[in-house]
Amino acid sequence: MTASLFQPQFAYASVAQRVVFGSDAPAQVAAEVTALTCSRAFVVTTPEQAAAGKHLLAGLGALGAGSFAGAAMHTPVEVTERALTSLEAAKADCLVAIGGGSTTGLSKALALRTGLPQIVIPTSFAGSEATPILGQTEGGRKTTLSDPRVRPRVILYDVALVRSLPPHLVVSSGMNAIAHAVEGLYARDRNPISSLMALEGIRALASALPRLTSGAPQDNDWGEALYGAWLCGTVLGQVGMALHHKLCHALGGGFNLPHAETHAVILPHAVAYTEAAVSDLLRPVAQIFGSATAHEGLTAFAARIGAPSRLSDLGLTAADLPRAVDLATANPYWNPRPIERDAIAALLARALVGDPAQA
Ligand code: NAD
Repeated sequence: MTASLFQPQFAYASVAQRVVFGSDAPAQVAAEVTALTCSRAFVVTTPEQAAAGKHLLAGLGALGAGSFAGAAMHTPVEVTERALTSLEAAKADCLVAIGGGSTTGLSKALALRTGLPQIVIPTSFAGSEATPILGQTEGGRKTTLSDPRVRPRVILYDVALVRSLPPHLVVSSGMNAIAHAVEGLYARDRNPISSLMALEGIRALASALPRLTSGAPQDNDWGEALYGAWLCGTVLGQVGMALHHKLCHALGGGFNLPHAETHAVILPHAVAYTEAAVSDLLRPVAQIFGSATAHEGLTAFAARIGAPSRLSDLGLTAADLPRAVDLATANPYWNPRPIERDAIAALLARALVGDPAQA
């Protein structure tokens, strides 16, 4: 029999957020706008998903006040300021975001500045919709804040909208979600609820992602992956992250590496580094992947679904390594195994060229 997730001491705060799963989001969104007692919705998305944003705005009819299709990765402040100008001109009273983590980031940045409520329709597995976290970039520097005002009020999950996610993002965004849950399992402020959501989230993604990346996925496969992404995002929103997220933050912020792909490469390495210190907490992850250790299971799973395995493929070079090590070890996040500079340098050197993860 496997152990329960009981902890003798913990704190758990429930979150007021309405989650509607399996909806026809473009049809449902008007009712959600009205339920928030709003009447002028402003739609945000990326240039690549402008058509989906237009379709959503058209479906809102008289409830649609305007749109902005300029969201960009890492929420640049200059983009937020341009969106804010359009938002103010539209005299909107709520925000509707349709897209991945970058679109949700813009919506959160606008909510922070205006106090407007948000409805988010996620189309990737990033999980930002479930968190009070906002990362923003200004002058090449990324800063992150956590503020309940940026947590969306409503999430509408619609399988039909996620099916168009480009195949490479299905894989890397899925690994990004798994990373939230894995680090949540050994967070200092974890609780039994966050741990059971983390394990169920990993289980759902471990089940769905192989079907999404081979053959002809069915609606329920997309649905199961979205369900996993929601759970993993909820974990990210509730407990603190550790070495893995610090490394990804350093590489994304310092070298502009793509967010989800960087998570996919780093996860087995960061888990290998940490695993011996928390092997009991990670044993269920090893069990989910049918392996002796969590990092071996994650390595095999990442290879099976075709995840990237080399930072060099994402644009990092050997010459970048010393600065990457500096960034990764400066102001370290708490981690179950303390941060040792030489070991982190070796980890990044392995991740650069795709050598196997090692403790
Ligand atoms: P993304 O939102 O940047 O999307 C990448 C590209 O894919 C964009 O062009 C987007 O329009 C497109 N796309 C997304 N879904 C699509 C779909 N279903 N069909 C067609 N195209 C689609 O990538 P992401 O990985 O979702 O998000 C990454 C960003 O989210 C980063 O900036 C990261 O920092 C942030 N993030 C924040 C949190 C948080 O809690 N604050 C959590 C996770 C990620």
